[in-house]
Amino acid sequence: MRELFDKALGAYLGLAIGDALGATVEFMRPREIAAQYGVHREIIGGGWLKLARGQVTDDTTMSLALGSALLKGGEHALRGHTGGDEALLRSIGQAFVQWLQGKPVDCGNTCRRGILRFLHEDTLAGPYNPGDAGNGALMRNLPAVLATLGSDSAFQRLSLAQAHLTHRHLLSDAAVLGIGQLLRRLLGGSDHRECQRWAEQWTAENPAFRFTPYRGCATAYVVDTVQTVLHFLTLHEDFEAALVATVNQGDDADTTGALVGMLAGARCGASKLPQRWLHRLQPAIVQAITDQTSGLLAMAEGLGALQL
Ligand code: MG
Ligand code: MG
Repeated sequence: MRELFDKALGAYLGLAIGDALGATVEFMRPREIAAQYGVHREIIGGGWLKLARGQVTDDTTMSLALGSALLKGGEHALRGHTGGDEALLRSIGQAFVQWLQGKPVDCGNTCRRGILRFLHEDTLAGPYNPGDAGNGALMRNLPAVLATLGSDSAFQRLSLAQAHLTHRHLLSDAAVLGIGQLLRRLLGGSDHRECQRWAEQWTAENPAFRFTPYRGCATAYVVDTVQTVLHFLTLHEDFEAALVATVNQGDDADTTGALVGMLAGARCGASKLPQRWLHRLQPAIVQAITDQTSGLLAMAEGLGALQL
């Protein structure tokens, strides 16, 4: 259990570290980053959002909103009680509404549209939409993975349902499930080599996400995001090396950074995260992440499928 907690906490803190580090260079080109920073490797805030040092963005705060909704009502629903799924999705929707009304520092267009649709039309999912292939549902799915650890069917059901509140696209669905499966494996103890093998096999089955040769596109289009994440995660075993290489690719650097931070953080565990980055995060965020990690793992244990 202690090892699993370390890996789960490593994933959640890694997500926040990647978000805070990458946000400084979001929407910049690699050449612009090199001209301004040489190699960008410190959490310093700034960027187009004019962040305080250590401040995180929507990638982390939306994950926390999902996590808080799961902790309030998830266990009842995930145990398969009648009407549970719908009640849980409503409470996730409400958590997203509350998050949006709290004027987050950033919110993607597809997320905003889906949240407002839920608020005004009470819809738990929009129709499949060619415009929904952004990475917004993928970036926030970590709490759903933790809450359902040990149950593949609950993982798939919850991940897709939370994703469809804002994003309804087959590539988003495939990315949410694929990256979620990889995170589950890493939490279960898979090492770097196994991670490489998984990526090879998964991209053979999902060729849209093939990342070799890497095209160098790191936009918020979910295909570009996943290719970037898998490229740098499989290239570098070390957490810091993987994350620095990822964010210096620029563009949607807070989100590619968050996802690489999450996966590489699960691979190495919280105890191996670079201390100088960890100490730069805002204490309230670290506390919320630590509390949620315990609560969500306890929920997974409560579901009975997880042997701790
Ligand atoms: Mg962001
Ligand atoms: Mg972003």
